[in-house]
Amino acid sequence: MKNINGIHHITAIAGSPQKNVDFYVEILGLKFIKKTINFDDPHTYHLYYGDERGNPGTILTFFPWSEQGFRGKRGTGQIATISFSAPSSSLNYWIERLTKHNIVFAGPLKRFDEEVLIFEDYDGFELEIVANEEESRPSYKSFDVPEEHSIRGFWGASVWHQNTGPTEGLLTDLLEFKKLKEGENRIRFTSGDGGPGTYIDLLQLPDQLKGIMGIGAVHHIAFRTDNESTQLKMRERLVNKNINVTPVIDRNYFKSIYFHEPGNVLFEIATDPPGFLIDETTGSLNSSLKLPHWLESSRSEIEAVLPALKIPE
Ligand code: ZN
Repeated sequence: MKNINGIHHITAIAGSPQKNVDFYVEILGLKFIKKTINFDDPHTYHLYYGDERGNPGTILTFFPWSEQGFRGKRGTGQIATISFSAPSSSLNYWIERLTKHNIVFAGPLKRFDEEVLIFEDYDGFELEIVANEEESRPSYKSFDVPEEHSIRGFWGASVWHQNTGPTEGLLTDLLEFKKLKEGENRIRFTSGDGGPGTYIDLLQLPDQLKGIMGIGAVHHIAFRTDNESTQLKMRERLVNKNINVTPVIDRNYFKSIYFHEPGNVLFEIATDPPGFLIDETTGSLNSSLKLPHWLESSRSEIEAVLPALKIPE
């Protein structure tokens, strides 16, 4: 039995919450699946996007600070790029769609067996659409993206380091990743059963400056684990290697543990259950502000300070 099964979710920092929604729903056609708050900072939103059910491996989340917030800087010690997956047959659709919406992109570039389009969101965060032959996850209808061309979830993420060695050690020795491919300055790892949603690319960039956390940067990446018992097993494994890992934290939709990998990227291990349907059904996902039970008594105070948000239909 495998304890880690690829990516659960990725969380990044955004500027304006409305611009964030507009980009990920109107341009990329992701489903807006949950409007909640940052449990550690209840006066900012926590916005969730993904497929129709918010399946692990499709969930991209943002803490939108505000337009005036501190801007991050792309560099080493960070997840520098998030890659989405779409079938090869959708490549031309995405080229036309990005062009139509005036999103400047590079590509299609050939990388290993895939074709890649590279572009930025409204906060300057680097994204990719990886057109590939491996994708088999379900499609969904969202906004005006035809169902067959929907982004199916993550392909993977790229981590930049001046020296990738220590992170490679952690991925393969403790987190059950396997080295899959190597090219130029990029090493690809996979976990669980492999395939889209499980790839981590380590990029060795010895001359690149360190990144700075802020708007347009990734806050952390979470890996999937089946349940609380596999999570505790992973936790024990990290503790035994003297890695400073948090206790299990209840995130309402999953349980989490956090630690920094040797290159200083924040890693999380999150359980698949209970998932995003615990407080809504698929038909009504995103309908209202969701609060965990321990913040429900402060609802009116919290709602009063959050900016209004219009979800494109
Ligand atoms: Zn997380």
